[in-house]
Amino acid sequence: MTPLLQITGASKHFGGLFAVEDVTLTVHTGEIHCLIGPNGAGKSTLFKVIVGTYPPSAGRIVFRGTDITEAKPFARVIRGMSIKLQAPSVFKTLPVRQNLHIALQDHVARAAIRAEEDRLLGILGLAAEAERPAGLLSHGQQQWLEIGMALALCPVLLLLDEPTAGLSPEETFRTGELIKRLNAGGTTMLVVEHDMAFVRQIATSVTVLHLGKIFAHGSIDEITADPRVAEIYLGTPHAA
Ligand code: ADP
Ligand code: MG
Repeated sequence: MTPLLQITGASKHFGGLFAVEDVTLTVHTGEIHCLIGPNGAGKSTLFKVIVGTYPPSAGRIVFRGTDITEAKPFARVIRGMSIKLQAPSVFKTLPVRQNLHIALQDHVARAAIRAEEDRLLGILGLAAEAERPAGLLSHGQQQWLEIGMALALCPVLLLLDEPTAGLSPEETFRTGELIKRLNAGGTTMLVVEHDMAFVRQIATSVTVLHLGKIFAHGSIDEITADPRVAEIYLGTPHAA
């Protein structure tokens, strides 16, 4: 089966800093593929190379059978890729519904937008918050709204960068259940995460990045049993 996303030999250098170095990574349709690694490992940079924020210094990216290495970010979105970045980006003064409306308006027919807003509000568990300014939501609810804004683009591949950052254990668990629900509905996921309990909750496969390079790949059980992985996490503020 052709992989949904095939990254081959991808690098991203900032001057002399090799933030991502010779990464080869395959994401198959249907996966919840978690990308883990200590702070500074290159996870967010790799995401930005995948979505086209940064052109890679080397390597090749093939998405749904098409080479997108040189494609502009919007062209990748049109082909079915969507990202929720690490930094929050909801419009805090606007109502929750309006945030979704903005994400939907460019590619959903005007007459269908309201129904699509309602569908997303239901999936996200935010129906009761629809008319409240997004800035008044809890931190967890704002994260879900952001996932909803990425979902509004109807992605086949959704990239989430640290969806549980700053969330309570309860909100983290609910985020995991949301991700699994979206995956069951047909969205393949590539998720950056530090929280190993959360990775265990959602992951169908795990790739470890360290110093910009692929360090290990396997099931969550294989990764947590690997003493080399435990070693690179020791002494980091996000040790699992
Ligand atoms: P992670 O998301 O795994 O914590 P990042 O991808 O954010 O790691 O960062 C990897 C390395 O690249 C770090 O050393 C970081 O300081 C560096 N880096 C990230 N973005 C830039 C940039 N725009 N310019 C220069 N260096 C960067
Ligand atoms: Mg990061």
